[in-house]
Amino acid sequence: MAITAPRGTRDILPGESARWIRLEDIMREVCALFGYEEIRTPIFEKTELFVRGVGDGTDIVQKEMYTFVHRDKESFALKPEGTAGVVRAFTENKLYAAPQPTKLYYITPCFRAERPQKGRYRQFHQFGIEVLGSKSAAVDAEVMAVAVNIFERTGAQNIELNINSVGCPKCRGAYHEKLKAYLKEKLDILCEDCLNRYEKNPMRVLDCKEDGDKLTDAPFMIDYLCEECGDHFDELKRHLAAMDIAYIVNPRIVRGLDYYEKTAFEFVSKEIGAQGTVCGGGRYDGLSDLIGDIASPGIGFGLGLERLLLLTEATLTAPQRTFDVYVACIGRKAGEAASRIVKHLRDNDVSAERDYMERSLKAQMKYADKLGVRYVLLLGEAELESGRAIFKEMQSGRQVELPVAGIEEALIKALNEEETK
Ligand code: ATP
Ligand code: MG
Repeated sequence: MAITAPRGTRDILPGESARWIRLEDIMREVCALFGYEEIRTPIFEKTELFVRGVGDGTDIVQKEMYTFVHRDKESFALKPEGTAGVVRAFTENKLYAAPQPTKLYYITPCFRAERPQKGRYRQFHQFGIEVLGSKSAAVDAEVMAVAVNIFERTGAQNIELNINSVGCPKCRGAYHEKLKAYLKEKLDILCEDCLNRYEKNPMRVLDCKEDGDKLTDAPFMIDYLCEECGDHFDELKRHLAAMDIAYIVNPRIVRGLDYYEKTAFEFVSKEIGAQGTVCGGGRYDGLSDLIGDIASPGIGFGLGLERLLLLTEATLTAPQRTFDVYVACIGRKAGEAASRIVKHLRDNDVSAERDYMERSLKAQMKYADKLGVRYVLLLGEAELESGRAIFKEMQSGRQVELPVAGIEEALIKALNEEETK
């Protein structure tokens, strides 16, 4: 029986991969403009990193991690998200010793054992950025501006920025009491997951896909912020306004990771249904201390490439593959000459293709046409014998004869002349 790919994984095939490259190019361009440098961390980490850094009470750690025990000793997990690894690398490699802030980005596969659906896979890809070393709300706004800039360049439309503040350990305690008192009356309508969240991290009940909407009159953190968190949130809004970035305040945004404080945000599209969250992030000022015993504030987001590609099917298109020159060849000797010629062309930055299928001349011309090549060099046995090859411009049908002796140079010359026409 033929072997198939694991459930929830996808092959990114030629054609589609060209759109991925376009998108990744845009992401790298934007990062260069904003001063973010790439970081590449391992695909697997010690399981403990995610348990601590993502949070024991999260769906990711509870249900979605791919974990394996190596030689009966150490437990590792495939990365389910990017932040924990980056923060570990930041502390372990002492990036905090350089002038701050540290501005990083990554593009990485992530792994989560979820039920596969459109826009939800077991191996998917995230672009993410992290800024460490600054508490400033201006950074929070800049991080959002990076996502907005990428959306604009990809042509993605109707993506709404939702912002919230989830407070800090100082103000959250008193609020949790209020929320728990409220939820206590609703325990009989909560789903099983939420009963668990009620104990471990009650705020997460508010963004439950099943229960969230039922809790219309719940108290929200945003109404109980301490002065510092309140000021930070107001400042964020002023910076967003200064950059003309539209947003709505959505007090239900809590985010799936346990470590967020102050700013939490999501970019949501109305166009891809249940998998509408394209990008989510927030501030995690306590995380680096938790992971690496170094206190340094941070903020970042993760953006799903598959989801953004779904949203930009009409606007983010890849150019069709084309070749400058196709060398049509018949017979062994012409075939060898073709090898020499395409090598020379490619060395001179001219994209070139040749026959490898021993097709007839007619079939080769048809294939060259399908490839969309601009020029064909015809090298049959007759041409080799007469010492004259035919060089043809496909669109106009215009053709000239080139001497077979020294044809590489003659070709480059002919191409240069063509360019000035
Ligand atoms: P969701 O609520 O859709 O499960 P999440 O809160 O688990 O999302 P994050 O952990 O914040 O998502 O990940 C950041 C982004 O990565 C998401 O906004 C989404 O675009 C993408 N993403 C998350 N899980 C998947 C997945 N299984 N398949 C494809 N993309 C995903
Ligand atoms: Mg999820």
